[in-house]
Amino acid sequence: MRKKIVAGNWKMNRTLQEGHSLVAGILAGLPALSSHKQVVIAPTYVHLTQTAAQLAGHAHIHTAAQNCSNQESGAFTGEVSAGILKSAGIGYVIIGHSERREYFGETNALLAQKTDRVLAHGMEVIFCCGEPLAVRDADTQNANVETQIREGLFHLAAEAWSHIVLAYEPIWAIGTGRTASSQQAQDMHHHIRAVVRAQYGATVADNLTILYGGSCKPSNAAELFACPDVDGGLIGGASLKADEFLGIVAAM
Ligand code: PEP
Repeated sequence: MRKKIVAGNWKMNRTLQEGHSLVAGILAGLPALSSHKQVVIAPTYVHLTQTAAQLAGHAHIHTAAQNCSNQESGAFTGEVSAGILKSAGIGYVIIGHSERREYFGETNALLAQKTDRVLAHGMEVIFCCGEPLAVRDADTQNANVETQIREGLFHLAAEAWSHIVLAYEPIWAIGTGRTASSQQAQDMHHHIRAVVRAQYGATVADNLTILYGGSCKPSNAAELFACPDVDGGLIGGASLKADEFLGIVAAM
């Protein structure tokens, strides 16, 4: 059975104190989780050790970083390595969020290197992919997303895929209030799984968790998560309020 996950990406929001309260609020309302139903919280680097300490002892809820360096260590001012994240008790790292691709020029080749670093340190990768509006309007989204996955992840051995979670996030739906319809989400998730199946076979594809991200909220999460190939969500704005995030967790 493949894992279902609801992951909150706080982006560059919340002070340390606000983050502490937010995590406390989430823990206070969290339903029982299991190894097949997990929650992930991705605050800023500054919050990570605090959040990991708060979550310690709570099963199946993990701390994630929003990014990491493609370098192992050394003179890279401002960067944080996978090894340092691991030493802080971090379980997941988000790689290739569209904001990293767009504002920081991250390429598929760079993301492949980052993925390797995260896996080498025994953490899980949440690898983001998704098309811009112009690509959706031209109806070429399948090829666009396939290229991101192929160039970012298809150098991996089949065994590594048990540590990969994909997040499909159409860029036109991120932070815009415009959600992909459940049919659009299902169609793309089905396509992604087929692409992975063609490369790695049915076992890898069927066990792969594929999250949807883009203006997901309590009011639309249940419909999205009911799609057969949608295994949960990567949540931005709605992860910043405990009640909204918990509403989405409940839909899982
Ligand atoms: C995101 O940035 O990963 C995201 C899905 O944002 P939002 O939920 O705010 O659209």
